[in-house]
Amino acid sequence: MRIFEPHAHMFSRVTDDYERMALCGVRAVLEPAFWLGQNRTSVGTFVDYFDTLLGWERFRAQQFGIHHFCTMALNPREANDDRVNADVLAVLPRYLEKDSVLGVGEIGLDDQTPKEEKFFAEQVQLAIRHDLPVLVHTPHRDKKKGFERCIDILKESGIPMERVLLDHGNEITIKLTRDLGCYSGFSIYPNTKMDPLRMSKIVVEYGVDRMIINSACDWGVSDPLMIPRTIVKLQQARVPDADIEQLVWKNPIAFFAQSGRLQENDLAWPASADLRETFEGNSVLRGQDPAALQP
Ligand SMILES: [Zn+2]
Repeated sequence: MRIFEPHAHMFSRVTDDYERMALCGVRAVLEPAFWLGQNRTSVGTFVDYFDTLLGWERFRAQQFGIHHFCTMALNPREANDDRVNADVLAVLPRYLEKDSVLGVGEIGLDDQTPKEEKFFAEQVQLAIRHDLPVLVHTPHRDKKKGFERCIDILKESGIPMERVLLDHGNEITIKLTRDLGCYSGFSIYPNTKMDPLRMSKIVVEYGVDRMIINSACDWGVSDPLMIPRTIVKLQQARVPDADIEQLVWKNPIAFFAQSGRLQENDLAWPASADLRETFEGNSVLRGQDPAALQP
């Protein structure tokens, strides 16, 4: 089964994770820009991070045949930080023009403060101007109220709902998002928030139309193989392969294809990398014989 992993913070993962993901069928990864666990103090560190997502992470993924894309944004947490928030918004437009940037995200709400709401709304407008879909982070605390507030802000913005992926959903929020016309995202974790068995029950009850699952793996307790693990549960629940393929492949591609920068055909084969090349001269290959690694 081919997998498009639509939410993985590979910046925080080791290279072995890419290999394990490729072995489990992950053909493409989308990496949303996010909070790094500690606030940054100047816009320069955002610029370097954004450049890493576009350059080094793409190179690392391609070494294992994985196509790498990203979404760019000021995350909701650091929207509260006046040392960086306005400056990050000022540099974002140039990143939103890049070929491998398929949307604006993660934007949304976290602590649900007025500043988060302001920068959320401004970035939805940026997405509209750049003709890109949005990946929306919803609060982990006070989730139902947070979802409702996110939905209000999105409706006020005028962005078409099919261009919205409301992420980090659960059994409660699916009732709010099902009939909105947006995509409903579910982040699956090893032991909190949402697990593979609960996810398979949601799929059995609601079907796969505009549903998207992801592993949201990052620097916390998380697992980049949560989609393959969920596929096993779905198969045990006798969900047809065609529905599983829609959930883990067709839907994320359809959503991010709205950027105009992705076609399913682009992913027909694994990414190829010329392993004889280094990335900006670094020493990643460490004595391996690149010629021997060529297909
Ligand atoms: Zn995330």
